Amino acid sequence: MKPVSEIIRKKREGQELLPDELEFLVKGFADGSIPDYQISAWLMASFLCGMSTSETLTLTTLMRNSGKTMNWRKMSSNFENEKFADKHSTGGVGDKVSLILAPLAVCFGMKVPMMSGRGLGHTGGTVDKLESIPGFTMYPTEAMMLKNLDEIGTIMMAQSNDLCPADKKLYSLRDVTATIESVPLITASIVSKKWAEGIDAIVYDVKCGSAAFMSDVGDAKRLSESLVKVSSQAGMASSAMITRMEEPLGSMIGNAMEVEESLWILSDEYPSELHRKICEPLKELCCDLTVEMAMLSGLQSDREKAKAEALKFISEKKALEVFSRMAVAQGAAKNFRDALPKAEFIMDITAEKDGTLAAIDSRSLGVIGLDIGVGRKRAEDPVDPKVGFEVLSQVGQKISKGDVLCRIHARDKAQAESIYAGVQQSFQMILPTTSVSTIGKQHLFIDRIRKENLE
Ligand code: URA
Repeated sequence: MKPVSEIIRKKREGQELLPDELEFLVKGFADGSIPDYQISAWLMASFLCGMSTSETLTLTTLMRNSGKTMNWRKMSSNFENEKFADKHSTGGVGDKVSLILAPLAVCFGMKVPMMSGRGLGHTGGTVDKLESIPGFTMYPTEAMMLKNLDEIGTIMMAQSNDLCPADKKLYSLRDVTATIESVPLITASIVSKKWAEGIDAIVYDVKCGSAAFMSDVGDAKRLSESLVKVSSQAGMASSAMITRMEEPLGSMIGNAMEVEESLWILSDEYPSELHRKICEPLKELCCDLTVEMAMLSGLQSDREKAKAEALKFISEKKALEVFSRMAVAQGAAKNFRDALPKAEFIMDITAEKDGTLAAIDSRSLGVIGLDIGVGRKRAEDPVDPKVGFEVLSQVGQKISKGDVLCRIHARDKAQAESIYAGVQQSFQMILPTTSVSTIGKQHLFIDRIRKENLE
């Protein structure tokens, strides 16, 4: 093999690397024989010059094969004819879709082995949310995974260290070398993990907007196309939905609070009509993504009918029943809902003038949340499961002075007071109603990318 510096030079000149050159780099990095500084230079060259689809697929394959891969049908003959499916979201403030979608997908007949991450930065993670249920384990044994998938249909788990270790190491290096925001590198990182999960179908929820990782629709489209292309070449049926993320998803931001909100949606019972209205776009999104998974899995062929079916699974509380069985099978008590931790102190943020709410600064809410333990600033930080924000207003809504826009759920009065000004600032965009076009009901769907639409 040529020296590493020659491979870096080749990439720097914008040329495509051969599979054995990429293999040499990834294996050398994983076993420590190639130092971080050379891999950093290759990452930056790839970031700046891009990668072809074939290079991206090779990198994806190498990362997937760097650790354990699941093959459910080999692990149990019960799964011979089953369809394994999952969803991946690029993440956003208040994104609790996985908690609602996994039980809904089970109602359609899919098996859902869902591996998730913890929250890091301003967006939350499914692992922290589910761990707010006392007793719930996100670290099931292999026997538990097989049993729960067989008997319930889903298992929710934290990503294990032996799954795609090369990606884990590479991601840490990208994080400190300003090479995260690269379409091929993101694609290889995400698809390798989903592929290792042993699924047949994957739907990507690519968020776009001021509250998301990508604010530009063009960027979201490029990432979606790359994810679908590489996933298809890896043998998974896949599609991507580009969805709007201009305000928090639903009303609740905070770990136990988001579990509670997921249970409102799954039971179709809300504390108030306002909560129902605010949760409506989230519920629609969960149904649309689940329908997409069912269509990709070949279990449904008519989108409209499947959507009606999804809504029925909710109204008849079938999806709620799956969630409850899953929670108990993963260690929670039967009355887990009553056992969810709750904040000791609640403080209202009210409007200081009349007008229309033109924007909610979700990113800032996410960042403020880190100060009270909604999320974590460093991987080793603990979270506080009971604290968070209850958003009681929507962008485009007419506001009267004194209306409650948001509630801080805090550990105590002092903690609520410490973030009051920042939270209030996040709801400051109240403009004269005449200057804001009425937004009305927000549909989150922007576009759908399927393999058939790609060249
Ligand atoms: N999520 C991942 O898993 N990897 C990336 O590179 C970006 C987001």
